[in-house]
Amino acid sequence: MSQEKFDLEEALKKLNDNPTVQKRNGTIKKKNPVKIEPDYRYEACNDSFPCANCGKMILPEGAGTHHRNHCPHCLSSIHVDIEPGDRKSDCKGIMEAISIWVKDKGEWAIIHRCKKCGKINTNRIAADDNPLLLMSMAVRPLASPPFPLHLLESFIKK
Ligand SMILES: [Zn+2]
Ligand SMILES: [Zn+2]
Repeated sequence: MSQEKFDLEEALKKLNDNPTVQKRNGTIKKKNPVKIEPDYRYEACNDSFPCANCGKMILPEGAGTHHRNHCPHCLSSIHVDIEPGDRKSDCKGIMEAISIWVKDKGEWAIIHRCKKCGKINTNRIAADDNPLLLMSMAVRPLASPPFPLHLLESFIKK
């Protein structure tokens, strides 16, 4: 009985390896012709990869979220999305963390700006983001005010 069973996988493999079929299709088919790309709008990203900006390894664990979208060491990101998680942008520029946005209920988000095309995005902070970098970014405008600080006195005394 088992010998009569039609093995679809084996048959397809033979077909793909058949030079006549390859010639007719105009392409040499690879072993796995159908590769399904993950859709990060709905799926968690579990890859480890080096940061394109600082070179440190970015690991999936520790973020406290399934959608790590920036480096926890330098807070930079890569411009890969048009809509969050869709990976449809061809820009691939480095997105620099430029500021902190405090959302309703006090939640922090990083404002990212693409160094290549200028696109601005916001991303929630992750549990293991470098706290020193987050704080220094948050106080940066206060550390370099656009007017002498003593000017504030006259407003406070009113
Ligand atoms: Zn980095
Ligand atoms: Zn860009």
